[in-house]
Amino acid sequence: MDPKYEKTWRRLDAAGIRSTSQRLEMAHLLLSKPQHLTADEVFGLINSHFPHASRATIFNNLKLFVEKGVIGTLELKSGKMFYDSNLDHHHHALDEATGQIIDIDLDPELEQRVQENLREDFLKKTGKEISQPSLIVTLKGKY
Ligand SMILES: [Zn+2]
Repeated sequence: MDPKYEKTWRRLDAAGIRSTSQRLEMAHLLLSKPQHLTADEVFGLINSHFPHASRATIFNNLKLFVEKGVIGTLELKSGKMFYDSNLDHHHHALDEATGQIIDIDLDPELEQRVQENLREDFLKKTGKEISQPSLIVTLKGKY
């Protein structure tokens, strides 16, 4: 195995996914950097590297990666769904002008305060408990 795939192989193995060469290459492309891709963009990315990979195989693998927690999902209010390669807890900023989605990491102390505040406020207003909420903020303004 090419050493560049080792980290990805371990990630699939830890998730209980058998690494076929196609799965390995696909996961490697998806997880190589922080990115948020629509299903069509995932297909475009994989297809540009592996034109012979079938659409069905790509989407079956994608579904498996989501089920096993190898890749995250992010659903926007619009109903648009993205596949998120960053599995660490984080928040998102949506740039209204460009549609770009940016990962936001808060410093640990602020993160803890935000979590507590969100949980308390949500409980007070809805009577429901929420675990590990994450924010999606919309960025407005000019730059
Ligand atoms: Zn993200």
